[in-house]
Amino acid sequence: MKSFDNPTAIAQKLTQWYEKNARQLPFRTTHDPYKIFLSELMLQQTQVATMIPYYERFIERFPTILDVARASEEEVLKYWEGLGYYSRARYVHATATTLKEQYDGIFPSNLKTIESLKGIGRYTARAIHSIAFNQPSVAVDGNVMRVVSRLTLFDEDAKRTKSMRRVEASLQPLMNQSEPRIFTQAMMELGALVCKKDPLCETCPLNEHCFAYKQNRQSEFPVIQKAKAKTQETYDVYVLDYAGSYYMVKRPEKGLLAGMWEFPMIQSKQMLETLKRETNQTFEHAKFLNTVNHVFTHKIWTMHVYHVPLYQPINGMVNPYNFQGAMSKAHKKIMELL
Ligand code: SF4
Repeated sequence: MKSFDNPTAIAQKLTQWYEKNARQLPFRTTHDPYKIFLSELMLQQTQVATMIPYYERFIERFPTILDVARASEEEVLKYWEGLGYYSRARYVHATATTLKEQYDGIFPSNLKTIESLKGIGRYTARAIHSIAFNQPSVAVDGNVMRVVSRLTLFDEDAKRTKSMRRVEASLQPLMNQSEPRIFTQAMMELGALVCKKDPLCETCPLNEHCFAYKQNRQSEFPVIQKAKAKTQETYDVYVLDYAGSYYMVKRPEKGLLAGMWEFPMIQSKQMLETLKRETNQTFEHAKFLNTVNHVFTHKIWTMHVYHVPLYQPINGMVNPYNFQGAMSKAHKKIMELL
């Protein structure tokens, strides 16, 4: 990573450009931390143009965070309907409830406290801290990462937390000589409007200071390392069934899906023999049901599911209707076959 070419000039040009060219967006006309928080959550995974009508409708119904807290989660979800990723709506409601109960309905201005609220990660906390409270917290999202990567030929994997932190630190001196809320929004806006995937370098206010532009290497940045190929694991899964109750086992307390319940998953003859012994069954009536795939971040499970009817119950059987244990999504898919 090269040092910025003339950080003072970059900070000044960026601010001037933003003041002339920023889009007029409804959440830009306010410094209300609730509205900044809401807009940041709505913008995750969603385009600005799609999000705006939802944002406006939401603010009309819930003008303050206390209005959100007083409403039911169900109603908040209703106003989110169509935007997708509904956990975001649940976070807004949960945070509103926390603020009502613990902070007299006032959004905290302390960075650590903001980051402790539901649905608020490092980036969002810093965006709120700088935009709403005008504090010099650098917020690095994908847009900012792209701009900085090109300005400085930053060649580390842009997706890594370590890279985010390095870029964050590199921008601090620029932030310190700017108005924080303008700087944060200007970086994001430049990434959204000019330094796009196909950048508009001829019109970029920073082109004089951009190493990627000077070397015609814009397309090489940001660097995104290819995800490793997912490993493939194949299992035979046995559903031992006595009148709608099933034999389930608990996964180890550490590792993938720690502590979750599942149908026995078998990868070898030896494991099958052990299962037969443990359940005291021969499995001679086992019948193939279907194959279920489940994709994790780093692996794929292919599960060939067999149904084994039992003539009497055995220890370790549970009734799915009153079972309290947590079951993984992969095994819920199997449950849907039954
Ligand atoms: S000159 Fe081009 S690549 Fe460099 S910051 Fe501007 S738009 Fe991005």
